[in-house]
Amino acid sequence: MSFTVAITGRPNVGKSTFFNRMLEQRKAIVDDVSGVTRDRQYGVAEWIGRTFNVIDTGGFVAGSDDVFEKEIRKQVHIAIDEANVIIFMVDAAAGITNLDENMADLLRRSTKPVYLVVNKVDNHARMLEASEFYSLGFEHIFFVSSISGSGTGDLLDAVVALM
Ligand code: GDP
Ligand code: MG
Repeated sequence: MSFTVAITGRPNVGKSTFFNRMLEQRKAIVDDVSGVTRDRQYGVAEWIGRTFNVIDTGGFVAGSDDVFEKEIRKQVHIAIDEANVIIFMVDAAAGITNLDENMADLLRRSTKPVYLVVNKVDNHARMLEASEFYSLGFEHIFFVSSISGSGTGDLLDAVVALM
């Protein structure tokens, strides 16, 4: 089992909520990487009979913009190095932020596929607002609610389609 999905995105967009949902539904094991770091979590998920690794990156806490910049760079490099596909998560409730734009700039240079995932699309009004994220210029875009699970099936279908 060597296929890996990395979830990246600025703090509070819902990465861990989505990660936990994927694992909880698929009865997978979550484990902190031994001692070294708390900045990412690894798990195993299963979808329509396919099993793959999932990395939840960016457990960093609020700091100065400099800290963010550095952490974001690190996160993106981890994702690009270790993953076969990168989920770039953003927040429909918040709209596009500077940090989203910074991450988008880095991820657009990735040779690995990037799925832009607009989270917190909990209702129809949010869906309409969420269309602003098309402007980030990613070819693959998904609208999900990690809390209700809506849209997550289509996203996972697209993930396993790459395996
Ligand atoms: P992370 O920092 O990116 O890992 O974000 P978290 O998973 O910790 O979530 C940040 C906040 O967003 C929490 O209060 C979550 O409950 C909330 N959240 C996550 N997903 C959704 C969603 O689909 N809809 C709404 N309304 N809130 C969400
Ligand atoms: Mg988190």
